[in-house]
Amino acid sequence: MRQCLTSPEGGYYTTNASEGKDQFGKGGDFITSPEISQIFGELVGIWLVTEWMAQGRKSKGVTLIELGPGRGTLMDDVLRTVRNFKPMASSIDAIYMVEASPVLREAQRKLLCGPAPFEDHPHGYQSKSKHLPGVSIIWLEDLAFKPKDPSQTPFIIAHEFLDALPIHAFQSTQQTQPSLDPKQQSRGITTSVSAPPRPLQQPFQPKNEWRELVVSPTPPPSVINPPKTPGPEFELTLARAPTPYSRLLPTLSPRYAQLLASTGSTIEICPSARTTASTIAELIGGAPAPPPLKSPSSKTTPPPRRRQPPSGAALIVDYGPASTVPISTLRGIRAHQTCSPFSAAGQVDLSADVDFGAVAEAALGGSEAVEVHGPVEQAHWLQEMGGKERCDMLVQKARAGDEEMAERVVGGWRRLVDRTPNGMGKLYKVMAIVPVTGGARRPVGFGGGVAE
Ligand code: SAH
Repeated sequence: MRQCLTSPEGGYYTTNASEGKDQFGKGGDFITSPEISQIFGELVGIWLVTEWMAQGRKSKGVTLIELGPGRGTLMDDVLRTVRNFKPMASSIDAIYMVEASPVLREAQRKLLCGPAPFEDHPHGYQSKSKHLPGVSIIWLEDLAFKPKDPSQTPFIIAHEFLDALPIHAFQSTQQTQPSLDPKQQSRGITTSVSAPPRPLQQPFQPKNEWRELVVSPTPPPSVINPPKTPGPEFELTLARAPTPYSRLLPTLSPRYAQLLASTGSTIEICPSARTTASTIAELIGGAPAPPPLKSPSSKTTPPPRRRQPPSGAALIVDYGPASTVPISTLRGIRAHQTCSPFSAAGQVDLSADVDFGAVAEAALGGSEAVEVHGPVEQAHWLQEMGGKERCDMLVQKARAGDEEMAERVVGGWRRLVDRTPNGMGKLYKVMAIVPVTGGARRPVGFGGGVAE
């Protein structure tokens, strides 16, 4: 999945656009909320301002970070909005864009920096924001390259980013041979006179185990009865034995263990989404306390590496179930239709539902100083943020001369909040990661109000 999307040679995001093909918009493969309506990015910008206000209106050290910024439209709308709140705008030290695609990095630079060219930066490339004069925009290929600076207050947005990260799929399968029980194994090695005897000949009672669904080339078609239209070049097959991933990843959460009992149940796990969520939590709340040193000479426990105080916020918007584990959701997307993810590698977008439960779990595991709100439905969040009022305002402004423009504004807004299966209001969810408040405050859009 990673190779198909971001390989420098033939990746969907990395190479397609350089060959004159634009993935976004009507003529492309998909359209995203910021591309549909400016209201989306404006409300994300307002949300960041409300968090900045609630967290004591810092006068410096604020950074904005966007993961997977596409054409750059969302950040453009965010910056256009934030620049109207002067004290927050002047607190921004730098903007980070995490983008694997050189073609999209260039599109983002053009939109956000105008004529200012790319320059080298120790961790990637940089240029200057056209909205916030003097502020650098820094492009990183991966969030892991972002220096962790506890003096900074990071505001992070990830819109339709996590669904592009590679998943592993597993199926609950009845064992065909006994698993290696690590306890029994080690007892075998350290057998001493006092060790209890190992039960040797117990009848084998098969339990369920997770087996990985792996991508394999489709077998050549039968010569006797060839199919009329050739199928996809690849297919998913069940691994014949446990793989390193099937032995490790499902142990990451008790949520998976509950599903193991029903033979045939399938789960998708996205380790990259988990590490991204935990890195986001660390940036906001500081890393978790390291385990206490066991050495007898060390009498004191090292202090937790919790930042003092935690600050910043993250907003994650994507599609996926609110709490259950996604099942068989890997899909290809081409020309606004879903298609097999196993044909035309590098030519189709690949995506899997985001496991919001896993994202929340990984964030809370990443730092003890953060809390998670949501996910809530996009329609609910946009309405709570005042989207309808903003839409009315834009219509008022447009009406004077441009009836068509007013209709476009209303049409775009309706699409974002449409809760039918074809709309985006119910399908897309919004989740926030913020510094822990112990229930003292809820973010705006998640049941809280604007701080005075
Ligand atoms: N947020 C944008 C674009 C979503 S498409 C919007 O809503 O319009 C996904 C984006 O993530 C693209 O910019 C793609 O190039 C980027 N991307 C995908 N996988 C990535 C990875 N592993 N690392 C960094 N960027 C990635």
